[in-house]
Amino acid sequence: MSKNQLLVLKFGGTSVGDVARIQHAASIAAREAAAGHRVAVVVSAMSGQTNQLLSWVKEIDPLYDAAEHDTVVSTGEQVTIGLFALALQKQGYKSRSYCGWQVPIHTDATHGKARITGIDTTILTQSLSEGVIPVIAGFQGVTDAGRITTIGRGGSDTAAVAIAAALNADRCDIYTDVDGVYTTDPRIVPKAKRMDKISFEEMLELASLGAKVLQTRSVELAMKERVRVRVVSTFKDGGGTTVVPEEEIVEQQVVSGIAYSRDEAKITLFSIDDKPGVSASIFGPLAKAAINVDMIVQSIAGDSNKTDMTFTIPRSELPLARKILEEQSAAIGYKNLHIDEVVAKISVVGLGMRSHPGTAQIMFQTLADKGINIKVISTSEIKISVLIDEAYTELALRALHTAYDLDAA
Ligand code: ADP
Ligand code: ASP
Ligand code: MG
Repeated sequence: MSKNQLLVLKFGGTSVGDVARIQHAASIAAREAAAGHRVAVVVSAMSGQTNQLLSWVKEIDPLYDAAEHDTVVSTGEQVTIGLFALALQKQGYKSRSYCGWQVPIHTDATHGKARITGIDTTILTQSLSEGVIPVIAGFQGVTDAGRITTIGRGGSDTAAVAIAAALNADRCDIYTDVDGVYTTDPRIVPKAKRMDKISFEEMLELASLGAKVLQTRSVELAMKERVRVRVVSTFKDGGGTTVVPEEEIVEQQVVSGIAYSRDEAKITLFSIDDKPGVSASIFGPLAKAAINVDMIVQSIAGDSNKTDMTFTIPRSELPLARKILEEQSAAIGYKNLHIDEVVAKISVVGLGMRSHPGTAQIMFQTLADKGINIKVISTSEIKISVLIDEAYTELALRALHTAYDLDAA
């Protein structure tokens, strides 16, 4: 590989999970620098740390103020950037840590899931030109008013890609605890296969449907900015998956991957009027509170002019959604509200689905054979999702992986 490339290396929570791991991750960055590359590092908090911080926030107030939430949960990354820079210094390299606000990484003010609006590259470029490895906190930014924001769970991936785009880096390497993107989560399906390449489109679907290996926005951004992203292991040499444009995939699979998400909750509003404006009265207030509604089904009204509306939202937003729907109960006019939190969404994804009409039926039949009931279905051009009882997640994943012929030999 040619020398003096500009590389952004991102290390996830497990990769910086304790001091020894930080020292190991730093040695990977050092190796790239020693090979003649200019290196910028982006890190997550130590694994478990962000959850711990979040639990303290929720202990005080489950309907917390999002700005203070960000002040607390962003701190995990401040610890790891400092330790990482120290580890690099100890290994003989010049390094300096940067919080989001010090770069600065500008974001909008949607606390908890802020969007990056711009990155000032002055300090980073200067640092790189002086041979100093900048170690940047992922997951955080700063508003125009100077408040700290966070950019959504798993957001360090997005910070890394955004920095790679801003610096016009040759590559963005996402170092994690798996050696690439698999046909499904290898922790749940040991027969899952690693892919050498995956298209942006498929990776985007898999990520947005729950495959946590890359945050959805990081894939969106990489696709838009044409950043070369590679997923590699911190703990094992070799392997890896490169995310590439669709044209580079020679053989399109009907189903290339299966994702699951346990982060959903299902809400049903019973006995609402079947008349114009009802959907708007439900989803308008939720949208205003920035709650993402995903799957939606409305049952057909019989003779009664009453119907039921079922939809899913992120489980983390349930307290807020419930509050809003209860406040709006008179305006919406439902009889009662039912919440199901023990659900999982299972999705099959593949570019080849566009030309293979039988794909959904394989999914329905496979789940039926296992006695798994489907609560909600939604489809798009290259994916089919079903909502099932959470207890059947692993069974469903394994059965579908076999049914779509994805098992490793
Ligand atoms: P990091 O802390 O490095 O950001 P994450 O836990 O966010 O790591 O993402 C890596 C994890 O994603 C893996 O340990 C794996 O369990 C999970 N995962 C889910 N789906 C997939 C998939 N299709 N391929 C690889 N890993 C997956
Ligand atoms: N530490 C943050 C989280 O746990 C960001 C990240 O890991 O990417 O969500
Ligand atoms: Mg992650």
